[in-house]
Amino acid sequence: MSEPLILAIDTSCDDTSTAVTAGTKVLSNVIASQTQLHAPYGGVFPTVAKQAHKENINQTIKIALKRAKVTWDKISAIAVTQGPGLAPSLEVGIAKSKELATKHKLPLIAVNHIEAHALSPLANSGVDHQFPALAIVVSGGHTDFIKITQIGEYERLGFSIDDAAGEALDKVGRMLNLGYPAGPIIEQFAKKGDSKKHSVPLPMTGREDFNMSFSGLKTWARNKLEQIETQNTLNKQDTYDFAASFQYGVFRHICYKLNKLLKQHQISEVWLGGGVAANIEIRRMIRETLKSHNIKLFTPYSKRLCMDNAAMIGVVAGFKFEQQQFVKNIKELERRPRWEINT
Ligand code: AMP
Ligand code: MG
Repeated sequence: MSEPLILAIDTSCDDTSTAVTAGTKVLSNVIASQTQLHAPYGGVFPTVAKQAHKENINQTIKIALKRAKVTWDKISAIAVTQGPGLAPSLEVGIAKSKELATKHKLPLIAVNHIEAHALSPLANSGVDHQFPALAIVVSGGHTDFIKITQIGEYERLGFSIDDAAGEALDKVGRMLNLGYPAGPIIEQFAKKGDSKKHSVPLPMTGREDFNMSFSGLKTWARNKLEQIETQNTLNKQDTYDFAASFQYGVFRHICYKLNKLLKQHQISEVWLGGGVAANIEIRRMIRETLKSHNIKLFTPYSKRLCMDNAAMIGVVAGFKFEQQQFVKNIKELERRPRWEINT
């Protein structure tokens, strides 16, 4: 029997995304990006995001169905991101999912956005996975190590106690006037720079836990830039070197904690997800770290699956459909802006 078709919606932050999935197979994944709208603010402006979601959502649903070549009568369930995310943004997707589930008499599946990033490497992958797996979710809002005993059973073993890794890259990118979001630009600049030019401190080494902290790195960057600029203004090559050094510092911190974690926990494979997972250098450095533990890394099949997207919501919903984990009272489903994965 073929897998049930799910229409998935994600409006957790600044991208309006809808997808059609069947199990882990992605039939369509539409993303209406709001990056241009928020760029002048240097970050996501919640009321602007909400308005744009409202304007885009119907059209993205239409396109997702069209690209998947399916009609409403073939859809078996609606899935929606319940949290975490920006409250005004989440609200738009949840309201739409309730409306559609009621109209088409379909079950509704509520999905945790971080669980979706964690399982995003499973999208379109036919591989049999070995458990326990460790998901590393690195995005603009999260930097988490999540142990997966089986799908649906999670334990967060480590997390950033302040800024997320993507957030730190974005903030330092802003200091360098690289625009928003700066993560992808830092990656390009870093390719032309010397990552050893500045030695970025390695935080939290004295602690036994697997938590991370990126705000000290950001302060280091601000002080260092001030110091350099008292002598001369940064030229192009200086900026490349700074981007390379800072990016290396952020990823080295993650890899240091990952290595520590793997020495103490038996893990069979590692899955990487979230916006920063699109970065080739973080993948390389994590693979390097995993080598000595003889562990393989799985990453999402495309950059679109790294950024916020509804296909990964559909993938999680596929597993929940198997378990018949539907929202009991559709009218009462509420957004959960601070929903952590193991709560
Ligand atoms: P998300 O929170 O999952 O939507 O991811 C967005 C975050 O990922 C932002 O902080 C971006 O700067 C960051 N990001 C996206 N692409 C890259 C990249 N290639 N390298 C580093 N960071 C990236
Ligand atoms: Mg995200």
